[in-house]
Amino acid sequence: MAATKRDYYEVLGVKRDSSPEDIKRAYRRLAMKYHPDRNPDQPECEQKFKECAEAYEVLSDSQKRQQYDRFGHEGLRGSGMHDFSHMRSDDIFSMFDDILGGVFGGGRRRGGRSGNRAARGYDIETQVTISMQEVLSGVEKLLEFKRRDLCPQCKGSGAEPGHDREPCAQCGGQGQVAQSGMGGLFRMVTTCPRCKGAGSVVTHPCKACHGQGMVEKERKLTLKIPAGISDGQAVRVTGEGEPGQHGGPSGDLYCYVRVKGHDFLHREGDDLVVRLPISFSQAALGATVEVPSLSGRREIEIHPGTQHGAVIEVKGQGLPNIRSGRRGSLLVQVLIEIPKKLNKEQKKLLRQFAETEDKTVLPESKGFFDKLKDYFAGESHNSN
Ligand SMILES: [Zn+2]
Ligand SMILES: [Zn+2]
Repeated sequence: MAATKRDYYEVLGVKRDSSPEDIKRAYRRLAMKYHPDRNPDQPECEQKFKECAEAYEVLSDSQKRQQYDRFGHEGLRGSGMHDFSHMRSDDIFSMFDDILGGVFGGGRRRGGRSGNRAARGYDIETQVTISMQEVLSGVEKLLEFKRRDLCPQCKGSGAEPGHDREPCAQCGGQGQVAQSGMGGLFRMVTTCPRCKGAGSVVTHPCKACHGQGMVEKERKLTLKIPAGISDGQAVRVTGEGEPGQHGGPSGDLYCYVRVKGHDFLHREGDDLVVRLPISFSQAALGATVEVPSLSGRREIEIHPGTQHGAVIEVKGQGLPNIRSGRRGSLLVQVLIEIPKKLNKEQKKLLRQFAETEDKTVLPESKGFFDKLKDYFAGESHNSN
């Protein structure tokens, strides 16, 4: 019995009406994230990797996708789906190597037919944290990250210099072996387990990289982060990922940008919101107050009779739009604080004030009592 399957759109984190391109992109991202090479000894990552592969197999095939949209998981019975849960990760890789044009090609030699084909290197990810001030101005950051590069000793072959790779005896240099499945019902061609599809093996592994062909290296580069970038957005640096295989191009580097929260300013798109507590008397009489902004303190005018929750807009003091560069607004939201404690003198003055107060001139309550009067008038009219 198979365990309950999750919705395929949910697995890939895409909408039901997503384009094939979006689905491909989502799958690529997740497959890289849960790549067993990057998550050694984490079976739950391998599980997720397989779940994504299954979802992708269905959603990337318009016929299977239609079937799934109409009938759910039931609709796919007998449609020739792979059973990823019992497949080796290597075989899933080689399968999607073909579908994705070698996107998983770096680092590993795999995939029978694609064994010697030029393959693009892995994309890699890194992260940098910037301040709200740096979002305003744009900033250059020095990135330091680790990346696997071709081993300088063996130039990526994995063989000790002077000892060439030799043809694989298990598959006769084909990179693939035939296995019979389901008690001999059919034959299945899979990647050769000995040479992992390369067709050749290393007899004298390179000492510098232990036959991997790749070594981990520190890499530093200066990244220009454009003004107006949002938290969670990535800047792509073409060709700064891992090197490709057999002359394939390098992958890309995606640098994810985190924006530190500001003590006072809260970002809403290109606008900045600040909540400003003022006193009841400042609101009633009007005042000039200071508010924080990204260019230091700013004075703003509170007009007499300002209400609780009112928003005062200071145009051009928000963040720049990443495309147009036009700055949003600083939105000052007024919060009127009622004093919790009053001294004797204040109480006396406030009582005197209350005696002079004509409730009907207060803007909110005037409307309220007028409406209430109309409401009662209407009701007595209706009941007649
Ligand atoms: Zn080496
Ligand atoms: Zn082999």
